[in-house]
Amino acid sequence: MGKVIGIDLGTTNSCVAILEGGVTQIVPNKEGGRTTPSVVAFTEKGERLIGQIAKRQAITNSANTIYAAKRLMGRKYDSPEVERARQVCSYEITEAANGDCRVRVRGRDYSPPEISAILLQRLKLAADEFLGDEVTEAIITVPAYFDDIQRQATKDAGKIAGLKVQRIINEPTAAALAYGLGKHENERIAVFDLGGGTFDISIMEMADGVFEVLSTCGDSFLGGEDFDQRIVDWMIDTFEQETKIDLRPDRLALQRLKEAAERSKCELSTATESQLNLPFIAADSTGPKHFNKTLTRAKFEELVADLVSRTTEPCQKALADAKLAPEEITKVLLVGGQTRSPIIINRVREIFKREPSIEINPDEVVAIGAAIQVGVLAGDVKDLILLDVIPLALGIETRGGLFTKLLERNSTIPTKKSLVFTTVADNQQVVEVHVLQGEREIAAGNRSLAKFELVGIQPAPRGLPQVEVTFEVDADGIVSVSARDKMTGLEQAMRITPSSGLSASEIYDLIEEANRSSENDKRMKEIIISRNRLEGLLQNTVRSFSEFGWMLPAEDQEFVRNTVEQARETFSSEDPTQMRYTLELLEKAARLITDAMFRPTGLASGATHSQEEETAPVSEAS
Ligand code: AMP
Repeated sequence: MGKVIGIDLGTTNSCVAILEGGVTQIVPNKEGGRTTPSVVAFTEKGERLIGQIAKRQAITNSANTIYAAKRLMGRKYDSPEVERARQVCSYEITEAANGDCRVRVRGRDYSPPEISAILLQRLKLAADEFLGDEVTEAIITVPAYFDDIQRQATKDAGKIAGLKVQRIINEPTAAALAYGLGKHENERIAVFDLGGGTFDISIMEMADGVFEVLSTCGDSFLGGEDFDQRIVDWMIDTFEQETKIDLRPDRLALQRLKEAAERSKCELSTATESQLNLPFIAADSTGPKHFNKTLTRAKFEELVADLVSRTTEPCQKALADAKLAPEEITKVLLVGGQTRSPIIINRVREIFKREPSIEINPDEVVAIGAAIQVGVLAGDVKDLILLDVIPLALGIETRGGLFTKLLERNSTIPTKKSLVFTTVADNQQVVEVHVLQGEREIAAGNRSLAKFELVGIQPAPRGLPQVEVTFEVDADGIVSVSARDKMTGLEQAMRITPSSGLSASEIYDLIEEANRSSENDKRMKEIIISRNRLEGLLQNTVRSFSEFGWMLPAEDQEFVRNTVEQARETFSSEDPTQMRYTLELLEKAARLITDAMFRPTGLASGATHSQEEETAPVSEAS
């Protein structure tokens, strides 16, 4: 199996990490950088530039340089986020036929996942080289507020880049994982994430290695770029006052101002003043004009004061939602490059009344957390479990005592899945839905959560009714199960909380047990499936033989009778090979009858058998 990496696919910068021998490590890009600008550019010659090199040429090729594609992921063209992106981006955003947004570069439309995939592919290649082995899978992080469509779009991007996305995890959860590794004390954590384009605050609880997101809040219109823009506006105003030249319509000048502003902002995180030198920024009849000014930290802080203030309310709201006072927070983690600004650190200190943790680089903490989650899933990291996933598979008991999973273990929540089942007996009017949780293939080996009945199914031959069973898990891990007769619309539903009462170590024990029993379970599963098929086919064959058997030549009639006899005997067998062999004979017998039915009269297709195949996971009759 190839290697698995953790990827922080950021709006502004992306970062890759791995876990080897219990130690996390940042995977450098080809240029040796620990983070890669999330920028993709297309040159006149048709070349693709990615990362730092793409960012560097943005000034001269701004219309074909795509940055912050993450903001467009899974968004509709007419959404407010895309409207906002249109105002600040220098590339063209278009509308696809289905209403999604696209970016148009050099005459071609690209979906946001395609752009992200180009970046992911580059990150994967760098990791392949660094590790000397092919990377095949990844865990990618997304903001906690990302909905299913955005998460799916991120998964698609991974797929396009040739990566199997094992899991999408929330960025704050990843950050907490990075801090929580190897520590067992109980904590209530605030993750303050101010990146390039968005602000997120998450309140989490960590107890005995189990993480639970208690609340999240934020502002998807607040990020480092707004801080840069304040400096740009200040530069434009100052320049206009002195020269009477308005730089706003000059795209090239604007791009230069933006770059200089960001550089200066970053410098001001450690220095108290920064030089802004932009020679030949404009010209008028009197000659070329240069921008040359000193920006002090105090002035910068004055320019961004209201932006900083906008972080307070979401934090208070998140605390209120988590029913916690600021004093009850035991750790504050900083994520996102913009949290390096001292004014932000001061504000965080004010809100939470404590010193934020700065042990882990805020640009790398999310990728490191993703790498740790890779280890959790692989079983390399024990005693850590996330509550924003389903810890064990959820499903129902099906015919013969099999466990049919609807939701796999570690499915990210919230999630929803439906499967259609049918009846096993003619005129069956009641279907029992037995909900279980566990990893075993055999229902009896798993934990029973609930049972309920769907009554009043319209009398019909077995295999005909369609009962749609739907599992829905909300963000709190609450599972709702419903069963609906698709013909009558009749529905029965109930809510269950599956994970209660199971500690992290119990969950690991159950997984271990499932692994131990897997060989035996597989064999049992094969026997049950064959037996189910045998039973269905036997009933159909007997029924059609009694009706149409007379059409068969005597020797074929003899063959069918013998086969039916043999099938009855094999029914209770525990030998999969014998079952397979009898099934083949029975299929041949069924074919003989169907052929005979068709030969003289041309009756309608013998759909019973193919239908039998499709409805293999048949719901148990009560
Ligand atoms: P992220 O999306 O987490 O990569 O954060 C990117 C944002 O952090 C950009 O707006 C950067 O300008 C900003 N940033 C990066 N380094 C610093 C720094 N040293 N001081 C202030 N802001 C920074």
